Amino acid sequence: MKKTLRQINTPTCRYCGSNTEVRKHGKGNSQLQRYRCMACLKTFQMKYIYLGHEVKYSNLAI
Ligand SMILES: [Zn+2]
Repeated sequence: MKKTLRQINTPTCRYCGSNTEVRKHGKGNSQLQRYRCMACLKTFQMKYIYLGHEVKYSNLAI
């Protein structure tokens, strides 16, 4: 059984869609791996993409 694993070291930029200019950018809160896109110079976290539409952060408005 063959696996077609993709390189998780080069995630796709959530802003411009580039996957060749993304570099690791240290760790953010909760030890999440942060990335920086050298194409649009924006930083992002991979987990944020999945939690973005699920977590409402309703508890922050205290
Ligand atoms: Zn980008």
